[in-house]
Amino acid sequence: MRTPPVREGDLVALRKPHACGANRWRVVQLGADVRLVCTRCQRRVLMPRDEFDRRLRERWQEDEHEEMDG
Ligand SMILES: [Zn+2]
Repeated sequence: MRTPPVREGDLVALRKPHACGANRWRVVQLGADVRLVCTRCQRRVLMPRDEFDRRLRERWQEDEHEEMDG
């Protein structure tokens, strides 16, 4: 199964957790380079898009885990 496209604002897990122990990142910029913010320690990282695609393991969309009423 192919990974659906990642969008800015998505939360993602990479193959290797961050040094702080968390493995959940928010995508803040998508381009030739991808900028991520660790959701635990707020550290920012920048990596090339192809490296990001290789490391990407899981993705959550902001609106997938909450149901909105009305
Ligand atoms: Zn971190």
